[in-house]
Amino acid sequence: MGRNASNKKEPVVAGVGENRERQDCPSIDIIKAVAAEERPMDDSFRDHLNSCSACQREFRDLQAEPEWDKFYKRSSWGLYAVLFCIVCRVVFRSCHH
Ligand SMILES: [Zn+2]
Repeated sequence: MGRNASNKKEPVVAGVGENRERQDCPSIDIIKAVAAEERPMDDSFRDHLNSCSACQREFRDLQAEPEWDKFYKRSSWGLYAVLFCIVCRVVFRSCHH
């Protein structure tokens, strides 16, 4: 079998420094909820994000998904509009010819 076991899930082992840092972190569910704006961001959460790079990264990653998705959808609509304009112009020009 020439197959690599690369698609097998490896347990995530956090670095020692990061692990120690994350001792009083909010749970991932809370980070998710705040990132998805299902939960207001309170001061203690904000303070924690400012002092904890691991949570900050996680929060940004979680927050980036819907934002990027929104942006992507919006920009693809814009792209359709631009394409439509170009097609209209081409048709208009060829009609005028
Ligand atoms: Zn944290």
